[in-house]
Amino acid sequence: MAEETIFTKIINRDIPADIIYEDDKALAFKDVNPQAPFHCLVIPKEPIATANDINEDNAALVGHLYVIAAKLAVEYNFAEDGYRLVMNCNEYGGQSVYHIHLHVLAGKQLGWPPY
Ligand code: C5P
Repeated sequence: MAEETIFTKIINRDIPADIIYEDDKALAFKDVNPQAPFHCLVIPKEPIATANDINEDNAALVGHLYVIAAKLAVEYNFAEDGYRLVMNCNEYGGQSVYHIHLHVLAGKQLGWPPY
């Protein structure tokens, strides 16, 4: 089991967040430092530290994060225009919170590559 991070505190309501989706397995909340007009994070309630820890045992849970992102794209009306789903891993990937999270970025033309 991964160590607790600030995201566990958000799941437990120990610190506030702008939560836009919740079910028994996952949570989505607006990023406090948005990099696009719409920027939220979709996280599993079970703490998985990094993408390196994704395996056959938690694959359905990780897939569930993508299902939530696709639902949010419809709900917030950016499915047609398009959006980006990103999961940063470790130092070179730019990961700062070691509880996996899917960034959902939308609402403008996004640049590529991410130098
Ligand atoms: O991919 P990375 O680990 O860098 O992303 C962590 C994200 O968590 C950042 O975009 C940061 O703004 C966000 N964050 C947040 N609320 C917090 C702490 C971090 O939205 N309380």
